[in-house]
Amino acid sequence: MHPVWSGLLANLAVVTIFVSSWAYLQAMFDRWSPWVRALALGTLFGIGAVVAMLSAFMLDEGVFIDLRTTLISSAGLFGGPVAGLTAALIAAGYRLYMGGAGAWGGCLGIAVAVGLSLALYAAVRGRKLRRRDVLVLALLIAAMGIIIVFVLPSQQRDAALAQTAVPSAVLHFISSLLAGLALLYDERRRIAVRENQTYRTIIESLPDSLNVKDRDGRFIAANPATAALMHAKSAAELIGKTDADFYAPPVASRFRQDELDVMARGVMTSIEQKLPNLDSNPKWLSTLKVPLFDESGAAAGIITLNRDVTERRNLERALEQSQQQLSYALAQMADGVAMFDRNGIMVFCNDQYRDNFPLTRDVRVPGNHVRDILRTSAQRGEQTVLEVDDLEEWVNLTEAALYTPTEHDVPLVGGRWVQFRTSASPDGASMVVVSDITKIKTAETNLRALTNLLQQQAVTDGLTGLLNRRAFDEALESELARSARDKSWISLLLMDIDRFKAFNDHYGHQEGDACLRAVSAEFKRVLKRSSDVAARYGGEEFVAILPDTDEDGAFAIADEFLKGLRALGMAHAGSEKGIVTASIGIACYRPDEDWRGAVELVGRADQALYGAKLAGRDRLTGWRGARDKTALSFG
Ligand code: GH3
Ligand code: MG
Ligand code: MG
Repeated sequence: MHPVWSGLLANLAVVTIFVSSWAYLQAMFDRWSPWVRALALGTLFGIGAVVAMLSAFMLDEGVFIDLRTTLISSAGLFGGPVAGLTAALIAAGYRLYMGGAGAWGGCLGIAVAVGLSLALYAAVRGRKLRRRDVLVLALLIAAMGIIIVFVLPSQQRDAALAQTAVPSAVLHFISSLLAGLALLYDERRRIAVRENQTYRTIIESLPDSLNVKDRDGRFIAANPATAALMHAKSAAELIGKTDADFYAPPVASRFRQDELDVMARGVMTSIEQKLPNLDSNPKWLSTLKVPLFDESGAAAGIITLNRDVTERRNLERALEQSQQQLSYALAQMADGVAMFDRNGIMVFCNDQYRDNFPLTRDVRVPGNHVRDILRTSAQRGEQTVLEVDDLEEWVNLTEAALYTPTEHDVPLVGGRWVQFRTSASPDGASMVVVSDITKIKTAETNLRALTNLLQQQAVTDGLTGLLNRRAFDEALESELARSARDKSWISLLLMDIDRFKAFNDHYGHQEGDACLRAVSAEFKRVLKRSSDVAARYGGEEFVAILPDTDEDGAFAIADEFLKGLRALGMAHAGSEKGIVTASIGIACYRPDEDWRGAVELVGRADQALYGAKLAGRDRLTGWRGARDKTALSFG
């Protein structure tokens, strides 16, 4: 064999050995970072370039070539800057170590080769390498050999082109192309294997059952979840078998029919089905069936994906049950219930709630806003009393109250009362409970009226309507205390009807009562100040407390009464006066008297009254220590 050919073959063998070595070695670097992988590729191809240099062959007289650039540029294109530069440095280092006239020229060639490959690497970055990229690199490397020749002097150029440059370029082109394609296919194969493994892992670990059957219903692929679902020992055990090997004939034929339908229709179908219990608990499956076709378009089989939805079904059933119970409870309860979402929109109400509001029944429905409901209620006069005059302000306040825990009673038109209880839920919604409290309210109102009446009766004298003795005692105590604090006058009148026993004896008790009423009315008439207190002291004796009234004032009032009584001219056959008259005793505390006592004051008035009786009746007497001041009032 011509030495050129053996040298060329040796170089091609070197390229082939290193390219195929990388195919095996790179699997070792899978777990390392891309950086280490690139360094390994660069080192391997750098050494390859050195070995190629060692087996350089003579192309022409004195012209040696080798295929180092193939390995260096491949490192750059497939491994990037780290791989390319590592390979280039090793090759250049060796070339410089060898020395000789062409050392620097050789290094320049190495630099240009790696530069071209890295430029191409940068250009295709971000996408997968294609065959075209490999072709471009091979062409660039080949062109590089030819272009270098043009730097030679013109007389050498033509000879060099014909004798060395063109053949060298062709060799470089072929070796770069073959090496590039080999690396490209290896990389694609590795990616395919890796993706395949990834899909396998996903399918094997998928909790859902995934299987493929041929057109006759025989399993041709299945994952472990399918084996578990069918109670088979392993997925391998299923292969070649049909559903009939695992299920009772009616069930298996139902499944088969489903599959035949899907294949006949030719479209993906999703169903939810109950799996007969292979163990005690029935399972619910959500099943997706996808038909498979061969090249001619005929049904070739079916892919089935089963998802166990038993738990979801059970939860749904439990939820449905509790919803039924809840709505039954809401329908049966006596109170009205409504719920509003956080934005004020009604989301739920029971019939009892709506029954409470006959005038706004139509607007109290889910979907309506609470503000609109309130406005309508106010406009239709359903709510008789609004807390504030301005409608919009009332709507604002009432809406705000919805979201705070409140309880208030509201009067409605027609004398009805409802109680609103509001509470806010953690998610910001509001629940309103409405109870009809009309009966309770009516009872409460009646009770209050009764209590008022009883309170009234407890302090009132039944016959005359004046305060009774007990109320008088209380009033006198408090008025005395007040007058002592204010250092003011206080006067007391004690009035007794004259000869009343005789009146009773002559006219009878009923007439006597009528007389008492007339006298008390006159007594009350002359007491004009609101602070004056008139009371029936007992029998036919009456008493008046006159706060802030001095002796003269008290005398004047007593005198006015006696005159008024005489003017009434009520006949009294048992009296020497011929008409009903009375006598009055007056007692006072002056502002300068610090000590004031009820018993003392009444006692003094009584003494004065006794004096008036003694002095001939139908007159008034003021208490003056041991001496009485008696005055007869003349009409
Ligand atoms: P004097 O002028 O001294 O006051 O003589 P008097 O008869 O008015 O005095 P006395 O206190 O002895 O009589 C009071 C009478 O008043 C006794 C009773 O018949 C009569 N009386 C007391 N309370 C009532 C009453 O509620 N209704 C009637 N009809 N009479 C009463
Ligand atoms: Mg009396
Ligand atoms: Mg009397």
